[in-house]
Formats: sequence, C-alpha cells, structure tokens
Amino acid sequence: MEASKLKLTDEFMPAKINRDNLKKIYEGKAKILYEFSGEEDKKDLLLTYFKDDATAFNGQKKGTIVKKGEYNNAISSSLFKLLKNKGINSHFIEKISEREMLTYHLKMLPIEFIVRNIAAGSLAKKMGVEEGVKFLSPVVELCFKSDELGDPMINKTYLKAFDICDPANAAKAEDIALNINEILSKFFDDNNIIVVDFKLEFGLYKNEVMLADEITPDSMRLWDKQTMEKVDKDRFRRDLGKVEEAYQRIVEITSKY
Ligand code: 5GP
Repeated sequence: MEASKLKLTDEFMPAKINRDNLKKIYEGKAKILYEFSGEEDKKDLLLTYFKDDATAFNGQKKGTIVKKGEYNNAISSSLFKLLKNKGINSHFIEKISEREMLTYHLKMLPIEFIVRNIAAGSLAKKMGVEEGVKFLSPVVELCFKSDELGDPMINKTYLKAFDICDPANAAKAEDIALNINEILSKFFDDNNIIVVDFKLEFGLYKNEVMLADEITPDSMRLWDKQTMEKVDKDRFRRDLGKVEEAYQRIVEITSKY
C-alpha cells in the first residue's frame, strides 16, 4: 500500500492543556472523549481518557482491570507510533499523561473492521471451526457499529444501500487494515506473540481515511507463540486469571516505541 500523502505536523506541541476547557463529548465502555471548548487552536483535536472499566459480551459482563487505562494508553500510543514509522497515519498526536492521549478529531466511519488470521471467538463459532485453525489468507469482516443491534456483520453492498459511508472510503480502510495486519503480525511475531485477530476503526480527517480509536489487548487477540496462552482481554472474558499480567507483558513489548 502506498504511504499516506497527508502530512501531519511531526513537531506538533500542544500548548498547555487547560482542563477548565475540557468538554466531555462521549463516554464509552473503555474511553472518554473530550473536546477543547472555546480554544480555536485546538478545534480539530480531542483528548482521549482511557478507563479501567472492562466489559464483555456486549456489556453483559462488567468489571475492572486494575490500571488497564494506563496500560491501554501506553500500548495504543506505542503501536500508533510504530505504524506511523511504517507510513500509516492515525489520529494519534501524543501521549500527554498516564491515561490520556491527544488526537485529531475525525469524522468516524460507523464500522468496525475486524481482521483475522486464526479462528477464534465469534468466527470460530459461526463457521464451526476449532479455535486455533489458521486461515489460508487473512479474513476481513465489516460490522456496523450499533450496541442495540450487537454490531451486525455487513457486506459492501450495505454501505450505499443504508447510507453508512462512501464505499470507496471503506475500501481504503480495508486496504490499510490489511497492511496493518502485516506490520503488527511481524512485530508481535518478533516478540514471540501471534496476532490472532483484531478490531480497527477509521475516520476521515481533511477527507483522508485515517486510523482511529485504539489498538490494545481489549481489541486484539494475542497468543504466546510457544504456549498458545492468551495475552489479551479473553483472560477477563473467560475468567482465566492473570489479566493485569497479560496487559503488562504487552506494555513491555511495545514500550520500545
Ligand atoms: P469476535 O468477533 O471474535 O468477538 O472479535 C474479533 C476481534 O475483534 C477480537 O480481537 C475482539 O477483541 C475485537 N472486537 C470485536 N468487537 C469489539 C468491540 O466492540 N470492542 C473492542 N474493543 N474489540 C472488539
């Protein structure tokens, strides 16, 4: 894939954040988003705060993973930097505190792009394949973001039919997602971890399709290459224990970026 042509400001240094001006615009299961109310120089920016709350099975299981907010902020920041080094722009500007990152404010595509290399989770169930079966080539699934509907899987013909987004932008996002799969699979493989699957979200910034949201063990399945032990949120979902340790291991691996 061609590297993005949009030039972002590498030297971007935010003026001191004035917390009095932070206005909450969204609170989800794992993150809170704030805009900088009344600050003209930050009108295209957001502050993302990572929470410790953990949910699974569309919110049916709820809990807390101690320090998850810190771990996920660190991991996501590192992986966005790694990807930027490989020519993939994202909304990430910089990590500004233990639990906060500064990002560009994108117009989000209401789609989850799920990339899979190995059968697990909902796909293993749906296709009747055993967890752990490696696919002949990566699978990409598009899911329409809707908590009420349980993020149903859609295909490309839904995009225009339901006015979800411009199909050309979804095609670009899918192309970037497959490129990210190659980069992350290689990076984690070099660190003894298999990338089983992951979920990405994209948005538009100045009309360019750009990676957004987060890349964390909340949104990826990662297995130890030798033991096949899970090093991701499945430890929470399935009550496997040592949840914090799994997140810490990924912080350590990614911290060189
Ligand atoms: P599955 O469809 O098997 O449940 O999930 C596939 C992959 O996408 C997993 O790595 C899972 O963590 C991620 N994923 C799917 N839906 C969501 C979601 O709503 N939020 C997050 N954070 N990750 C998701």
